[in-house]
Amino acid sequence: MAKKKPIIKKSIIKSKKFAEAIIDTIREPLLILDKSLKIKSANKAFYKTFKVSKQNIVRQSIFEIGNKQWNIAELKTLLGAILPKNKSFQDFEVIHDFPKLGKRTLLFNARQILTSSESKNLILLAIEDITDWEITENKNILSAIVESSEDVIISKKLDGTITSWNKGAQKILGYHSEEVIEKNIRSIIPPERLKEENIIIGKIKKGEIIDHFETERLGKNNKLISLSLTVSPIKNSKGKIIGASKIARDISKQLEEAKKLEISEHRYREVIHSSPSMIATFKGKDLIIEIANDAILEAWGKGKNIIGKPLFSVLPELVEQGFVEMFSSVFKTGKPFQAYEMPVTMIRNGKKELGYYNFIYYPEKDINGKIIGVVDIATEVTPQAVMNKKIKESEEKFRQMANLMPDKITNADAEGNIYYYNKSWETFSGYTVETLEKEGWQKVMHPEEVEEIEKQWTHSVETGTNFEMDIRCQDKNGDYKWHLTRALPIKDENGKTSMWIGTTTEIQHLKEEQKRKEDFLKMVSHELKTPVTSIKGYVQLLLNLCKAENRHKLEKFPLESSLERINVQVTRLTRLIFEMLDLSRLEDQTLQFQRKPFDLNKLVKHTIEDIERTNTHYKIDVVDLDNCSTVGDEERIAQVLINFITNAIKYSPSNQNVEVIIHKTENGDMAVSVKDHGIGIDKKDQKKIFERFYRVDGENQETYSGFGIGLYLCNEIIKRHNGSINVESKKGEGSVFTFVLPCAE
Ligand code: ADP
Repeated sequence: MAKKKPIIKKSIIKSKKFAEAIIDTIREPLLILDKSLKIKSANKAFYKTFKVSKQNIVRQSIFEIGNKQWNIAELKTLLGAILPKNKSFQDFEVIHDFPKLGKRTLLFNARQILTSSESKNLILLAIEDITDWEITENKNILSAIVESSEDVIISKKLDGTITSWNKGAQKILGYHSEEVIEKNIRSIIPPERLKEENIIIGKIKKGEIIDHFETERLGKNNKLISLSLTVSPIKNSKGKIIGASKIARDISKQLEEAKKLEISEHRYREVIHSSPSMIATFKGKDLIIEIANDAILEAWGKGKNIIGKPLFSVLPELVEQGFVEMFSSVFKTGKPFQAYEMPVTMIRNGKKELGYYNFIYYPEKDINGKIIGVVDIATEVTPQAVMNKKIKESEEKFRQMANLMPDKITNADAEGNIYYYNKSWETFSGYTVETLEKEGWQKVMHPEEVEEIEKQWTHSVETGTNFEMDIRCQDKNGDYKWHLTRALPIKDENGKTSMWIGTTTEIQHLKEEQKRKEDFLKMVSHELKTPVTSIKGYVQLLLNLCKAENRHKLEKFPLESSLERINVQVTRLTRLIFEMLDLSRLEDQTLQFQRKPFDLNKLVKHTIEDIERTNTHYKIDVVDLDNCSTVGDEERIAQVLINFITNAIKYSPSNQNVEVIIHKTENGDMAVSVKDHGIGIDKKDQKKIFERFYRVDGENQETYSGFGIGLYLCNEIIKRHNGSINVESKKGEGSVFTFVLPCAE
């Protein structure tokens, strides 16, 4: 057994040495502490790392060594708990400022080492200095950032030797890091920038930072690159400046854009200033004049020193003219405001001047769409506006004239579309001008004529020739009236039709007159034929009887009655001829009157006697007066009376009573009325029967012979005696015709 002991001891010593060797080779600092936390031993790494020697620490409390630099509260608590509570701790991180080492980040791991006796149990404390880990980590992060940056990030020594060169530098300047590291490549600095670079280095040496300095460098391909450069000094651990870091951004594109912008801005301003249009820009709601070209400055007449001033303070005269509202509408709605031929009064060089302008106010917006100002583009159109005003006025005058004209006026465009009807159309047809413009002229035309009108109108429009046609138009009562419609083309200097002017004149009266004339001619020829044929018959008969062989028949022949027949017919013819003569004399104003006083009683009596001689079946009663003296052409007055009485007889086929009454009017004038109980006259014809050739329509016209001249002559004769003529009548009951003459007194 005794032999065995040294072997055991030997092996224990061996294993202890082995353990110590292991501990010593471990790179992390290790401490072995006893239960009173005194250092039992430490490994080489500990001595090296914390720069202490064995003598200074062994058998000393960990918290006492190195001027109590390990006296860290948390460590104390943790270590204190290990042996009594049989605990261990891992990766307990402590940042501690060591007087000799500076600020370190340490990672503590501790566990119990069990020995044969509990009281001798030990603590193994492993201390890992991870301060450098962070630095390395940060360094890695930094270099990743530097490498991935698009910007140039390089560092240089103060003599210009390049110490680092990132990918951004390679990309922008074209050199690979291998080509430049540890080299001083001055060729990337353009010669004219060398002086500037020296100044930068000078500043760096003084510890200054150069921030966002715009400069240029030459790329590998000799291309000039614009850079925004930030240079900072690099210091060593002792704070000595040993180099410079350079961060540069390629701003070539940016500068190019800025240059383009500048050029475009310049151009824009040039365009504005050389424009003949008046252009100005105003900023903000106060409308501060920002740009105003010469043309607008001239128009404002307030000189050139108005830039930068609010518009309305410079041109107060605009306020009253509604311009405040125009500008605020642009700010409010964001829509441009446009005006044509707007009259604007401006005080130019102290004088009020009226001008006409076309202008537009555009809202000027920022990139967010907010309105920040207004752009004003205007042109003066005074001569043109004055001309247009004149044209408008003259057009208005023309329209007023056209509306006052009784004729119906129309305007059509070159294609023949009617776009204007004057007021007469409205008055006549009862349709409003708007209705006619919308629904067309066809509305008023006689349906039978529409097709023909369209045909002729199309022809005129196609050939540019005058249009003329008699057409019937319907009046507001639904009656069709004859009209003469004419349309003339208005041609331009090239002979091209530019418009049509049409007149539509009512010719109903003329048409009726024409018809009456035609009827009159028919009737006259008919009236002449009858007596002439009759006279011719008697004359031939008598001539025959005068022949020798027929003389014996003469005695039996009713010669007297035949001659009377001839006489009646001749009288008729004579009357007709006289009436016709009178008519033509009346028309050429040559009908003469022999004025002298006469007794109306006598005139009436003699006239009736004459008539009764030929009209034996009729009974003519006379109611006369005592004193009926008047002045005039007795024969002509007799002619009037004869006409009244013969008409009374003629138009009373079944009642042969005719009454002639001489009476005085309320004014004391002399009146003679002829009353019959004949066919009477309709109200609508009563006025017209005094017109030339007027005969009441219908079967009467056929039944009763006549020329429609008699009453016209009577009316004219009485009018020329300063008298009046009238009729009272009821259809089917008879008529009373009266003429009134002033009394002789
Ligand atoms: P006419 O030769 O046709 O009789 P007038 O001028 O004398 O011409 O008369 C015009 C028309 O007036 C006549 O055609 C007739 O229709 C109407 N007229 C005139 N007198 C009478 C009357 N007494 N009674 C009815 N109708 C009459």
